[in-house]
Amino acid sequence: MNLETTITIFATGTSEGVKKEWDERGRGRKARPASTTTRTTKEKAAVDEFLKEIEKQGYDKSKTTIVYKAPVDSNFGVQPIAVSHNNTGIIEFHPDVWLEHAQNMPIGGVVAHELEHLKFKAFADDHNMNQENLMGLAKDDGVTGYSEECWRQVYSHEAGIALGVHETLAEMARLQSDTGKLPGTAQWKDLYKRVNDYYAQHH
Ligand SMILES: [Zn+2]
Repeated sequence: MNLETTITIFATGTSEGVKKEWDERGRGRKARPASTTTRTTKEKAAVDEFLKEIEKQGYDKSKTTIVYKAPVDSNFGVQPIAVSHNNTGIIEFHPDVWLEHAQNMPIGGVVAHELEHLKFKAFADDHNMNQENLMGLAKDDGVTGYSEECWRQVYSHEAGIALGVHETLAEMARLQSDTGKLPGTAQWKDLYKRVNDYYAQHH
């Protein structure tokens, strides 16, 4: 999968920068259409699959929302297919974007990716995430082209470090869901396990 394709998939509302962008969107586009009406049979099937995966992966279906014609993410210049909202725990799915750009990407992996953001949020809230330790993790990145691009943005100060950590963990979760095998180096796998164990104990 090339980088452009991957970036088309995920641009999620989890880093400080992206969170700010959402806030700005909220203010600037009060009338942003957020329709829950399914429009085509294919979209309905995608939504059903999304909700099935939410349930299967142990998340609360009431904490989801379906949005059509999602706005372009300012960090990546593409429409994301899904967004996780750290503050509310809402996972948002964009079936039209998925159908247009990402039908070869399993929705289970998309859900795993977004859910991992919320897991890391819970973990980071209760742990002292030392900046130096986090930067040490960056040296090992390379899970996907998308997570590498996020680290590039961290190094060039276009994004905060949280973006790189968030997206690498989320991509690990997606690939684990897709392939049954967890990618990443030992230290990334260690952090991933700690994050997921912590979430499992507290939710
Ligand atoms: Zn993400």
